[in-house]
Amino acid sequence: MEVYDVLIIGSGVAALQLATSLSHEKSVKIITKSQIKNTNSYMAQGGIAAAMGSQDDPSKHIADTLEAGRFHNNEETVCEILNEAPPLIDEFSKQAHIFDKAQDGSLLLGLEGAHSEKRIVHSGGDATGKNVIEHLMSRLTENIEVEENIFAYQLIIDSRSKKCVGVKAKDPDGTIRFFYGDAVVLATGGCGQLYPFASGAPTVTGDGIVMAYLAGAEIADMEFIQFHPTLLYKDGETKGLISEAVRGEGAIIITEDGTPIMQGVHPLKDLAPRHIVSQTIFNAIEKGRDVFLDIKSIQNFQQRFPSITAICEANHIQIADGKIPVVPGCHFLMGGIKTDVIGCTSINGLFAIGEAACTGLHGANRLASNSILEGLYQGKKLARWIDTSLDQHPNPEFAEDIPAIQEKETLLPDVQILKEMMMKKVGIVRTKELLEEQKNWLKRLKLNDFSELDAYSVPDITAIFMYITAYLITDSALKRTESRGGHFRSDFPYEDNDNWCKKTIIQKCDRGKDVYHEQIETALVD
Ligand SMILES: Cc1cc2nc3c(=O)[nH]c(=O)nc-3n(C[C@H](O)[C@H](O)[C@H](O)COP(=O)(O)OP(=O)(O)OC[C@H]3O[C@@H](n4cnc5c(N)ncnc54)[C@H](O)[C@@H]3O)c2cc1C
Repeated sequence: MEVYDVLIIGSGVAALQLATSLSHEKSVKIITKSQIKNTNSYMAQGGIAAAMGSQDDPSKHIADTLEAGRFHNNEETVCEILNEAPPLIDEFSKQAHIFDKAQDGSLLLGLEGAHSEKRIVHSGGDATGKNVIEHLMSRLTENIEVEENIFAYQLIIDSRSKKCVGVKAKDPDGTIRFFYGDAVVLATGGCGQLYPFASGAPTVTGDGIVMAYLAGAEIADMEFIQFHPTLLYKDGETKGLISEAVRGEGAIIITEDGTPIMQGVHPLKDLAPRHIVSQTIFNAIEKGRDVFLDIKSIQNFQQRFPSITAICEANHIQIADGKIPVVPGCHFLMGGIKTDVIGCTSINGLFAIGEAACTGLHGANRLASNSILEGLYQGKKLARWIDTSLDQHPNPEFAEDIPAIQEKETLLPDVQILKEMMMKKVGIVRTKELLEEQKNWLKRLKLNDFSELDAYSVPDITAIFMYITAYLITDSALKRTESRGGHFRSDFPYEDNDNWCKKTIIQKCDRGKDVYHEQIETALVD
């Protein structure tokens, strides 16, 4: 019987920070669908934002976050996390000794897009995620069990108490396993893999969001997808991220004839908020232009950006040429499972942290380097709450593991088709016609028929989750008849503060009724 105090699904920064911050008295289980390091967290380059500089102040970080989020943020959450960021980073820095420092011992601070001050703490130049994760892994203690290659696919809700008490998961051999916890925590990341051009890990396919949605939790703001302006582009494919920190050090975006394309578009030019830079590059590409990052002005590029240099060299792009070919691609999901700042969802016993959660920190568009921070903050905060306030669940009826059963096929189109369709119809520039076409196509696939998942293989369940996530994004994007942050509609190109200062919340109705039921909630923004 696999029963724990705390059951965590996922092994990114949010999951590991939670596990290592809990009391050692708690029994903790981490299950993760691939290897422990196969996460977006491990790939993070730029760093962690915190108002640490002598000229800086959390109030400036708050103002930048609200501006980038187009005031769709939950202001209370923003203030809480960003006021706490400097002491959190200070404590982490003393514990980890991983951050890059100047000769006088002070932290080196980088600049990224839409930040009004240098405030990005980084490690190993551009290896922040790797070093943060390696450090957290070094702190895993005996009370924490980690099991890799276990794919979670269904939340277990106790029929009497309506609490979430565990999760069903599959072994590599197809055995169905039941894991139970007093607290069940989804730390499953976002859904970057829904798009053909994506910066992140292959493991990030919306699974936790769909599991929560199918169990009846509230899902918020799924239309807000951040497209990172600069993914390395080679032979028709994206090959990895070229961090915004590169533009922070002086790189500019040009077309093949050397024309700088951000001039006159926004006062911050190449460091404008990401959605504006991405839309500008997208428009240039639509006009048949090739787009590059001009890095000639950056001294010692190889030393400052060793990971990016390695990605370029592996793809035969010579740093000495001073030009890196780029396209925008899916990078971050601002929406997700609706939670408070701790991670409480609308289902008792179920928590969500990190990118899978929608706390309201990011609003309609995330300010660069605010998400590792959110994972570190939430992980620690939820640990403190679980240690002091978590009620024990009444014992659910425990089910035993079931050997692999005869699998059936979904007959859904290949996910590559879904990815192409999402980029074309629910991508950087959206319209009512494109969104309706996509919604109708998805509806014809009768996704409701896939409610019993036991008999499907792990790749097939992953595909089902990707299709349902696509529906949640498309439907929310159709509903929001304005443009804001990461959601741009060319048929409604402006922000509409009179009608749209509210969240799009989707919650599944009872079986048998229309599955996709939308609620609108007034947000905190005036
Ligand atoms: C290339 C890149 C660079 C970035 N750079 C920065 C940066 O510099 N600063 C910053 O703040 N942010 C950055 N980000 C964003 C940031 O890395 C992520 O938002 C953050 O790491 C998400 O952490 P997480 O813990 O929520 O999830 P992730 O790190 O995405 O981990 C998700 C985990 O859930 C597991 N999982 C998913 N589904 C299942 C399932 N069904 N069963 C079991 N396990 C499952 C996955 O295997 C994985 O272990 C970057 C992102 C990318 C892609």
